[in-house]
Amino acid sequence: MSAGAIGNAFAAARRAGRAACAALAVAITLAAGGGAAIAAESAVILMYHRFGEDRYPSTNVTIAQFEAQIDHLVDGGYSVLPVPDILAALGEGRPLPDRTVGITVDDATRSTFEVAWPRLAEAGFPFSVFVSTDPVDEGHAGIMSWDELRRLVAAGVTIGNHSAAHRYMWQGDDDANRADLLRARRRLAEELGVDAALFAYPFGEWNAALRALAAELGFTAAFGQHSGVVAAHSDMLTLPRFALNENYGAIDRFRLIVDTLPLGARSVTPDDPIMTENPPTVSFTIEPPLPRREALACYASGGVAATLAHEEDGRVRIRFDRPFPPGRARLNCTAPAEAGRWRWFGLQLVAPRDS
Ligand SMILES: [Zn+2]
Repeated sequence: MSAGAIGNAFAAARRAGRAACAALAVAITLAAGGGAAIAAESAVILMYHRFGEDRYPSTNVTIAQFEAQIDHLVDGGYSVLPVPDILAALGEGRPLPDRTVGITVDDATRSTFEVAWPRLAEAGFPFSVFVSTDPVDEGHAGIMSWDELRRLVAAGVTIGNHSAAHRYMWQGDDDANRADLLRARRRLAEELGVDAALFAYPFGEWNAALRALAAELGFTAAFGQHSGVVAAHSDMLTLPRFALNENYGAIDRFRLIVDTLPLGARSVTPDDPIMTENPPTVSFTIEPPLPRREALACYASGGVAATLAHEEDGRVRIRFDRPFPPGRARLNCTAPAEAGRWRWFGLQLVAPRDS
């Protein structure tokens, strides 16, 4: 990057205030040649739904939790960057500042507009909202109106596609899913003038066919709701996000997740989350290898015990002691990293009802 470009970044920072500081950090990192001490090739993406809506504890964070989380990001040396910028940097092999965080909010709830936006704007934090268009068209009381969404767009908020009808799409057929996603795309364009390049799977659930449809429709990235870190080696159409809610909103957990690094799990099998056998066998290779592979630990949901083995072919193989209950299942693997941080890999699985 040229000195002129850095000067422009400074000028932009003066014009835009704190919001541009993150962009400035990127400029400095790049100008320094991506020094190893501050450059990263990963980022943590956070996922919210509701703010201060205590009737929905599984998708809500309290206002006190949210304010504590923002304070930690402001004070803790994090670079909160627009999600499209983070993904572009990773895709092009450009370094990011260490401790880069992206903020996403699903469903376009009214508390996003009334509670979250003012606080994020004051902190100078960009964010992305994944919109399901049918509930907006139907004028649901708890969902933003198109007018409110236009105000967010005017303020620079990124809008993503979250389908039109917000169904369990992997259970539906391909033509219906295509029509639904194209309807959402058309409504976002008509109402907001937005060509949404990002997609978030409703309920965070996908299968191989739905992932292929996201690719066919030209989305540059698609997000689930499984825990983990977005890295240069990640599959851009099944990206993880850390979910925040009242149960998982405590500041100790927040401090832990925003500091996480990628585990480096590659060539993960199975590559379709919908189980064809239950229990499945999961395997992957960790690249670069862990300094102490015996420090790797994996935990499964649903009361299922996970046993991991480091095989001679370099693969980590994980077996489970019993079938998962029907529905969504999770596997999370962690290993300690430097400076008290953790490497993290999360895998989403779905046990069909008839398995
Ligand atoms: Zn949703």
